[in-house]
Amino acid sequence: MDNQDILINLVNINKSFGDNAVLKDFNLKIKKNEFLTLLGPSGCGKTTILRIIGGFESPDSGQVIFDGLDITNLPPYEREINTVFQKYALFPHLNVQDNIAFGLKIKKLDNKVIKEKVKNVLAIVNLRGFENRDIESLSGGQQQRVAIARALVNEPDVILLDEPLGALDLKLRQEMQIELKKIQNQVKSTFIYVTHDQEEALTMSDTIVVMNYGKIQQIGTPIDIYNEPENAFVADFIGESNIIDGTMVEDYKVRFLEHDFKCVDKGFENNENVDIVIRPEDVQLVKENGALKGTVISNIFKGVHYEMEVDIDGYVMLIQSTQSSEVGEEVEMIIEPDLIHVMKKSEG
Ligand code: ATP
Repeated sequence: MDNQDILINLVNINKSFGDNAVLKDFNLKIKKNEFLTLLGPSGCGKTTILRIIGGFESPDSGQVIFDGLDITNLPPYEREINTVFQKYALFPHLNVQDNIAFGLKIKKLDNKVIKEKVKNVLAIVNLRGFENRDIESLSGGQQQRVAIARALVNEPDVILLDEPLGALDLKLRQEMQIELKKIQNQVKSTFIYVTHDQEEALTMSDTIVVMNYGKIQQIGTPIDIYNEPENAFVADFIGESNIIDGTMVEDYKVRFLEHDFKCVDKGFENNENVDIVIRPEDVQLVKENGALKGTVISNIFKGVHYEMEVDIDGYVMLIQSTQSSEVGEEVEMIIEPDLIHVMKKSEG
């Protein structure tokens, strides 16, 4: 990564709460104008990182570098950073205009300039003409847009978003995901987004940082993370996966479920124990000559595909297919070599 493109550099951050070591030697570089998502299960330390970047929490050791300057000890209000929380934290007694203008008034900007800025930012979040509405008369989705507008109006270099769509229903959340990405393209700020929802992360992000227990598991584009997970944790967290114990017999040959398969992986020890990750959509049902044979034990129609569980000598393989098979039916399966993902066994 070109150093010039880096806006935030977290260097060797450690943070504990009592004996709970939440972040251990955490290092992360965040580029200018990127939409970066911290993704991981509840309690893995995502919010703590966001709070450290925002200045609401101090690391026990390590540095937060912003545009080349050490801001580790700078208070939040002196940082070029605004935050949008899940609980919108809007002032219920003020209307939309005054909620958004609040920060600008503190900065003592001219009234005419403030009006213009609020108008522009309301257009960006698709709430043209909402200036005089009471907060309480707005829907949850509209309130969230006001909260985003309130962050955008300050034109900060960075916007931190902590599960901002968590309180919205699924359909609205999906619409807002697409809209947030559009907004970010338009305003060109760096967005740092926290979620435990993998679909949300895949939809919006330029870069996803997958975390578990305060450690980075993988950093990459959504496509990299989905197609080339680096370990079984990432594969499992990012999509539904079959994770199977296997042995790397030799380069390009792996054994699992008592069969040898061709694969595209090499560089393991001969007979090294490995994790095999296979996506449900990558298992093909065939009429004959399948490498694996099993019995369908469940079948659910999911709209676009059928989702089936197939018992293969005691291992239950999840399969998504546009072909349907009856429960109880014997089926045969093949898996193309490049769709067999071989991973080093996770530590611990
Ligand atoms: P979630 O998705 O549930 O918000 P998260 O990944 O954002 O989870 P954090 O909020 O960063 O996780 O919390 C990480 C760990 O640190 C958790 O075990 C949490 O209980 C603990 N923790 C966070 N803040 C504090 C605090 N102020 N005092 C004590 N423990 C804390």
